[in-house]
Amino acid sequence: MAAISAIKSREGKTQSYVLLLTDITRQKQHQAELEKIAHYDMLTNLPNRYLLDERLRDAMEYASHHNEPLAIIYIDLDGFKAVNDNYGHQTGDMVLVSIARRMTNVIEEGDTVARLGGDEFIVVAPRIHQKNSHHEYFARLLNSLVQPFHCSGGVFDMSASLGITYYPQSDEVTPDRLIRQADMAMYEAKIHGKNRFVIFDTKKDLYQRGFGRIISELKHGMNNRELRLFYQPKVNMRSGELAGVEVLVRWQHPEKGLLLPAHFLPATVDDALSVIIDNWVIEQSFKQLTQWCNDGHNFHLSINVSVKRLEEDGFYAFLSRLFNEYTKIKRDHITFEILESSAVADLEYVSSVITEISRLGVKFSLDDFGTGFSTLNFLKKLSAEEVKIDRSFVRGMLDDESDLIIIRAVLGMAAPFGKRVVAEGVESEAHGLALLRLGCEYAQGYAIAKPMPPEKLAVWHESWRPFQSWLQFKHY
Ligand SMILES: [Mg+2]
Repeated sequence: MAAISAIKSREGKTQSYVLLLTDITRQKQHQAELEKIAHYDMLTNLPNRYLLDERLRDAMEYASHHNEPLAIIYIDLDGFKAVNDNYGHQTGDMVLVSIARRMTNVIEEGDTVARLGGDEFIVVAPRIHQKNSHHEYFARLLNSLVQPFHCSGGVFDMSASLGITYYPQSDEVTPDRLIRQADMAMYEAKIHGKNRFVIFDTKKDLYQRGFGRIISELKHGMNNRELRLFYQPKVNMRSGELAGVEVLVRWQHPEKGLLLPAHFLPATVDDALSVIIDNWVIEQSFKQLTQWCNDGHNFHLSINVSVKRLEEDGFYAFLSRLFNEYTKIKRDHITFEILESSAVADLEYVSSVITEISRLGVKFSLDDFGTGFSTLNFLKKLSAEEVKIDRSFVRGMLDDESDLIIIRAVLGMAAPFGKRVVAEGVESEAHGLALLRLGCEYAQGYAIAKPMPPEKLAVWHESWRPFQSWLQFKHY
C-alpha cells in the first residue's frame, strides 16, 4: 500500500513528497482466504452453495435473455455412507476429492460443478443444447463416477444417481425450485435402481401441483363451510318404494359455483384430506338422518367411503362413537358404498375391513360395478349386500348391445350370491322398463330424481310416483 504526502514551505509551496510503502501481503492473503471460505468448499475446492446460487442466477438470466436452455444436474453418490462407515472419514474425503476432480474434467467451459455438502453435488450447464447431445453429456458425467477408486483403504466401485431439470420452463421458477426439481428427479433415479439419470417431468409436476392447489383451496373451503350434501333417491321401480338415499358431496365454490365431486375429489385421493372429507360427510349425514328421524321419516342412507378411509386405522372406533352419539339411527339403515375399481387393488385387506365394520350392523355396497375386474371371486370375498351397476353401461344399454350384455352378466353374477342389484344413471322411462325386463328392479337416476338438498327430500317423497309402465310391469 502506498501513501504519498506533500511537504510544504511556510508560503504553501510544495517542496517535496514523502512516499510511505506498507507491505499488506498478509492482509490481502487473509482477505482472499475469507473470500474463498465464503464461496468455496474447503475439502474439494469446488464452489459452495453460495457461489452456486450466484452462478445459477447468472446462468438463468443468460438463459432467459438468449433463450438458451440450461440444465441443472443434481448428483448424489450411491452408497457413500458405507465408505465412510467401513473405511473412515479420511478415505471418504479422498473419494469426494477424486469425485470433484473427475467431474471437473468432464464438464465443459462455462459449466459449474458445486458441492452442496456431504456427497451431494450440483452441475449447472448453460447452453446445454450446444453440447452434442444432452443425454450423452449426462451419461459422460455419470460414467466418470463409476470408474473404480484406488485409495489407501482399497479399491471401491462407486456409482451415482443424477436428477436433471431444465430452465426456462413454462412456469416462473426460482433457483431454489430448480434445485428441488433436480433433487426430486435424483430421488427417482435412486428408487429406480441408482446408477442412472432421470429427467424431471415438469408436466407431471404441474398436474400434481394443480392437485396441491385444489387441496389447499378445499381445506380453506371446508373451514368456510362451503361443502354441501345432496341426497339422491334410490327406488324400487316396480313398487315405488324408496329404498334409500345416496349422500353426494358438492362444493359451493365462492367463484366457480356449485362443483361436482369429479372436480375436486380426484385431487384428494392420495391425501389425508380424503379421510377428513369422508369423516365429515359421514358425521353430517348422520346429523341429517337424525333430523329426518325426528321429523318422522324413516330413510335409509348410502354413504360413499374411499378405500383410503377404510385403510386408515380407527374407522371402527369412529363409527362406534357416532352410533353412540346419534342413537336414533338404526345401524342397518346405513350402507357404505365402496368403488369396485379401488377395492380391487387390495382385495384381501378391504375384505377384512368390511367384515370387521359389518359387525357394527351396517351394510356395504359395491359402487360402479363393472368398471373394475368384476370377478366372481370379488363378489365371493366381499360381503357386500348390494352391487351398483355403473351408469356408463345403463346409459348405453338401449343402443349398445355390449352394454346390455354387461348388465345382463352383472345381474347373472350377483343373483346367485344374493346381492341386490341397483342400476345407476337411469335417465328415462325406457331405461327403467328395459331394466325391469332384465329383472333389475332397483334404480337411481335423473328419471327418478336428481340429487337434491335435504330439505327437498320429504316433499319429493310425498309426491313421487313411478311411471305407469313401471308399476304395471309384470314378470312372466
Ligand atoms: Mg356411490
